[in-house]
Amino acid sequence: MMAVRVVGSVNVDIVAQVERIPAPGETVLARSVERLAGGKGANQAVAAARMGAETAMIGAVGDDEAGGWMRAQLAEAGVDVAGLGTLAGAQTGTAYIAVDDAGENQIIVAAGANAQVSVPVVAAGGVLLAQLEVPIDALAPAFAEAGRLRMLNAAPPVAEARRLFGDVDVLIVNQHELAIFLDLPATPRTVEEALVARGLIGRPDQVVVVTLGAGGALAVWADRHLHVPAMPVVPIDTIGAGDCFCGALAAQLDAGIALEAALPVANAAAALCTQVRGAAPAMPTRAAVDAFVA
Ligand code: ADP
Repeated sequence: MMAVRVVGSVNVDIVAQVERIPAPGETVLARSVERLAGGKGANQAVAAARMGAETAMIGAVGDDEAGGWMRAQLAEAGVDVAGLGTLAGAQTGTAYIAVDDAGENQIIVAAGANAQVSVPVVAAGGVLLAQLEVPIDALAPAFAEAGRLRMLNAAPPVAEARRLFGDVDVLIVNQHELAIFLDLPATPRTVEEALVARGLIGRPDQVVVVTLGAGGALAVWADRHLHVPAMPVVPIDTIGAGDCFCGALAAQLDAGIALEAALPVANAAAALCTQVRGAAPAMPTRAAVDAFVA
């Protein structure tokens, strides 16, 4: 049975709308506070499930009320949560986010249960999709096992993650992460500049995908590349667009679609994601993506 297995973080995002971000020592009043499902792992799992893939979340929450709420949010999106552990005495991962009227934000993340994630032996077949908000030691054994398509979204850019790259089939980074992993003096902005991504892969069967924001997405193999321009939209909120791209790409590849054909679909899904506020709530359905590209 094919499936997308997402190994990663599950967070509750507490988002406060403020007129301006407080300076150190200052108190400001929030206009509104919302609780939203978040964490790169959970966002990508929701994206893959909405795109029609059978999707399972492997991760951990605490035995608090927030953990139960996140479990329910994932289940409601159609994600299998049997592999989502509940850790006694741990707090569910929480991101405290302040967003000001100019759209600027300030984020404090408490990893909580995400820092204690351990990965069971992952069944063969399908797609393994991970990010770097859980311990790299927990990810390494799952990536060392062959027999599945191994996708890594190397975000946030933890330098230590480089040791996983040799065991990855599809590596996904944005342009900022690309600059950090290659220790570049400046962020690559153009397709030509982003071709340096080839430096992250070693084997001819590996591919690195660079998301370029309003520049679309670029896939780089050892001997060729493919660029897909961004869909023409006016973004309302780009939070979660990268996660949407990763989850949608995983769903396509799990369905046996070639990367060349999967890339434009993921690119369209991510563009749609920018049209709705929030991360997990903004993930589009397969039907919405089909209608958008038709
Ligand atoms: P991240 O969210 O990690 O910073 P990007 O900004 O590169 O990642 O965005 C991920 C993907 O979202 C892009 O590859 C593209 O498909 C889509 N996207 C982002 N910004 C836009 C935009 N302004 N217009 C259309 N698509 C966009």
